[in-house]
Amino acid sequence: VRSVVKEMLEGFISMIFPEFCAGCSTDLVSGEKLICTNCIYLLPRTTNHLEKENLLTRKFWGKVQIEFGMAFLKYSKKGLVQHLLQHIKYKGGSELSYLLGKWYGEDLKQGFAEEFDLIVPVPLHKNKLKLRGYNQSEYFANGLGEALQIPVDPDTVIRTVATSTQTRKKRYDRWLNVEGIFFIAAPEQLKHKHILLVDDVITTGSTLEACIIGLKNVEGVKVSVATIAVA
Ligand SMILES: [Zn+2]
Repeated sequence: VRSVVKEMLEGFISMIFPEFCAGCSTDLVSGEKLICTNCIYLLPRTTNHLEKENLLTRKFWGKVQIEFGMAFLKYSKKGLVQHLLQHIKYKGGSELSYLLGKWYGEDLKQGFAEEFDLIVPVPLHKNKLKLRGYNQSEYFANGLGEALQIPVDPDTVIRTVATSTQTRKKRYDRWLNVEGIFFIAAPEQLKHKHILLVDDVITTGSTLEACIIGLKNVEGVKVSVATIAVA
């Protein structure tokens, strides 16, 4: 009886507060959460977690060495993934970020997942965190950690400089800009660990590169990268 009442209540609530799909904005129907069945079906998944070399790993060629690199989805302008990322970043979509992390974690069980000791989300600068209220990458990391049963550490890497968008800058300027923007607060906790570094979307890879360089200053650390999307 209780579940029937619960279902009726939920149906009633959704009539007053209809929920929309974060991907295509249609009304969600009973049983759907955050994203509709059609959008789930259309998610442009990559096969990165099965390939040692792929679109994501290529971004670090000649810059910094990583063990594995993988993105859950392929980003395209004005497409489904862009809508999802906007929802995650600007519309309180922490729950969606977590859900995508859980789904991707299930995929990663078929890939390189057993190699990782620790998941670290790329941190936001504290001012930005205050403004947004949450770190979207941390929720993705938590979803991955839950699915893979690997601990998540959101505190050890600290962002000391709030950087603006770096995509349009020249490589030399960019280098000056990214060096030293991350600080490792407790390096002894990372020693000899294989860290899965997690971010929402990778475009040029320069922010991730700076973070990887910071992490690799710690003795014996290996770094792999996972993102929600690759552009
Ligand atoms: Zn949809």
